[in-house]
Amino acid sequence: MDKGFVMREGENGFERAMGILEMIYKLPDSLSEEDVEAAKNFVFPELQQTVIGLLELPADRELELFFFRLLLGVLKEAQNAQAEGKKLVFIPFTFPPEIFYSFDNIFPICTEIVGGLITNICYGQGERFWDYAMGMGLPDSLCSANTIGTMPFFMGPGLKADAIVYNSAGSCNPNAKIHAFASDYLGIPQFLLEKPVDESPRGRELFRQYLKRFIKELEEWSGSEMREERLREVMKKSYQAVELYNEFWELKKARPCPVPNIFSMTLLVLRSQLWGRQEAVDVMQKMVDMSKERLRKGEYTASEELARVYITYIYWLFDFYGYFTWMEKEGITILGDILAIHYFPEMDFSSKESMLEGLADITFDYPMTRQMGGESISMRWLDDIIYAAQDLGADACIFGGVHACKHTLGTAAYFRREMMKRTGLATLMLTGDVFDKRHTPMEMLQEEVKTFVDQVVARKKSQDKKKAKTAGE
Ligand code: SF4
Repeated sequence: MDKGFVMREGENGFERAMGILEMIYKLPDSLSEEDVEAAKNFVFPELQQTVIGLLELPADRELELFFFRLLLGVLKEAQNAQAEGKKLVFIPFTFPPEIFYSFDNIFPICTEIVGGLITNICYGQGERFWDYAMGMGLPDSLCSANTIGTMPFFMGPGLKADAIVYNSAGSCNPNAKIHAFASDYLGIPQFLLEKPVDESPRGRELFRQYLKRFIKELEEWSGSEMREERLREVMKKSYQAVELYNEFWELKKARPCPVPNIFSMTLLVLRSQLWGRQEAVDVMQKMVDMSKERLRKGEYTASEELARVYITYIYWLFDFYGYFTWMEKEGITILGDILAIHYFPEMDFSSKESMLEGLADITFDYPMTRQMGGESISMRWLDDIIYAAQDLGADACIFGGVHACKHTLGTAAYFRREMMKRTGLATLMLTGDVFDKRHTPMEMLQEEVKTFVDQVVARKKSQDKKKAKTAGE
């Protein structure tokens, strides 16, 4: 194994991940099975799961190569942003990035996307960064997603943001705390957008005022106004992607599902880092076109679609192959997670005011913030997952989150019971951490999922069939 892949002492994980990802440019546009095998054998064991998770299945291969090249380009822009006179801002994955792209001189970088890259690309995955946080004396009740994402910037030389923003105070304290701590520790300003739990028109109106104030603060700090023309340009791009998102959602309803499982991960990264840019439109368009083509040809990876599952919180994100590809080969379709449910209002592009109102609604209803910052966490979470699971025709649900998702874990028993009562859908509860394999290794997760599908989902399906047959006789 090339020891050059091992993280160097004091190196910023973000830059190391980018350096390794550079190899994607060396791969030919059209990869053969042999090329994939060679790429797999070239890298260290943990990265092998990423390589084959992205490249083994032909449909995934074409899209993911295209997507990761574009993503790398945008991350390089983030690296060069300060040299070009822009302010670099850390944002969490509960925040729409298009707000920041609407400024001429602000560039956003999503901390959880950095955490995800490191976890799937760097030798040793995210663990060393988590352990570093523990070594600093930070509590182990933090969210691994944003802690792993922010720690590299504490540890090493290299990229440092100019400010940090978050909107999770009151909805997810682990998320809010690590971002507030990062601001303090790194000595950079923090901008907080608070979400009222009041979901009535009064609460939404208040939130619109908060968003305007938040933008004003950013304008004063960055020294430039959010121009109406720029905002319109970004929002139009955003809504081009929204149209494709809606089409993508509809395609997932077909049986068997023509959308490859790994596209769910791709959508999460697009929404968190690239929305409002041409790259998001291009990748969404390709995902829609490829899924349509698979639907037309009746392509499905396994011989049969055994189960269609909705992930009630977050996908497992430390082993792409072991999770997304493995399920697909087993005939288990992943229809989405909480971060895949977006509510995009009709957008009125006529004025800055009207676009900001639309943007306020998008932010208010942004996944995770909408549920964990709702009037009733359990009700909002349950309603949203029921809507998605029923609309997409799920046979069952699977819970996965990080060990710090206290609100979800606190209401999980209620969620599972109500889900069964209202929809008849069983929920498999998996404990563990979607960013840290030391909690529940992938092999254990696979075993539990397989047993659940064989014993619960398949049995229920065959009972339903028998009932339907008897009723028809
Ligand atoms: S809700 Fe869970 S995954 Fe989301 S930020 Fe909070 S702890 Fe992390």
